[in-house]
Amino acid sequence: MSSPRRVDAPTVTTSGRNDFTAFRRELRRVAPQITRALPWINHESPWAVLVSEVMLQQTQTARVVEPWSRFMERFPTPRSCADASLADVLTAWRGLGYHRRAKALHEAARVLRDEFNGVVPTDVAALRRLPGVGEYTANAVASFAFGQPVAVLDTNVGRVIARALVNRRVRPSEAKSLAAELRPRTNVAAFNQAMLDLGAQFCRATPRCAQCPLERHCAWRQRGGDDPAPLSAGVSRPQPRFEGSNRQLRGRVLNALRDGPHSRRQLTPSFAGVTAPRRDEVLASLVRDGLVTRRAQTYSLARE
Ligand code: SF4
Repeated sequence: MSSPRRVDAPTVTTSGRNDFTAFRRELRRVAPQITRALPWINHESPWAVLVSEVMLQQTQTARVVEPWSRFMERFPTPRSCADASLADVLTAWRGLGYHRRAKALHEAARVLRDEFNGVVPTDVAALRRLPGVGEYTANAVASFAFGQPVAVLDTNVGRVIARALVNRRVRPSEAKSLAAELRPRTNVAAFNQAMLDLGAQFCRATPRCAQCPLERHCAWRQRGGDDPAPLSAGVSRPQPRFEGSNRQLRGRVLNALRDGPHSRRQLTPSFAGVTAPRRDEVLASLVRDGLVTRRAQTYSLARE
């Protein structure tokens, strides 16, 4: 996609690279106008922040709000989650896909209980020891829960960097160093949040440049050309179709099992129109991933 029009450019240099200082200043100025009202933002509990970041992996923000609230009500601390069975955690995960994240979060809660005295650690290296916590999630928790001076680089931030800052495709190592260069010295968490808010609301896969408050400070908007965001580091590829996917079938089975154990025959409605070999593969994958147990022909949510 090409940028549709050009406007005066107060911050973009002749090299095409943005003036980072001016961009940073302008983003901070508009931050209060673009802040999203999400229940985990500025939450006092680091556990609440960690849960939100795990749920937000590969899932749209709007779909996370309700399950996050329900999950936090059921498991307000790492210890409460660690002491529960995996089946209870999978039940509380209702409404979200990618159930291996629920299992990893349950394991992370047990690591927090057993090795960190039930407390979420403050630094990135310790956070990376938790199951299901990769580089982005560790940085996000360190920043948003503890105000650590680290940049966060997700798909939203990756698009903003490629488009607004340098107007070209960026490699992974470049994206990291550009994000670190852009990071302010103070109030890093608020700045990181503003970058996420900008990416999520304006600098989307299909950008809303005409409404964007950073339009006059955006390198791509100023200079035009092909969209540099696709294939840039940190920018996710389009998700495979959910409808008709094995992911959908796995979700249906787990939904059914939340009501209690089911025989293969009782699970038949979850597999309407699906061949027997594919059904067997879906069931086997759930057992393999440790989400479901099988005894003879009966399937149940895994307890451990
Ligand atoms: S949405 Fe804003 S930051 Fe993104 S490309 Fe358009 S003008 Fe630039």
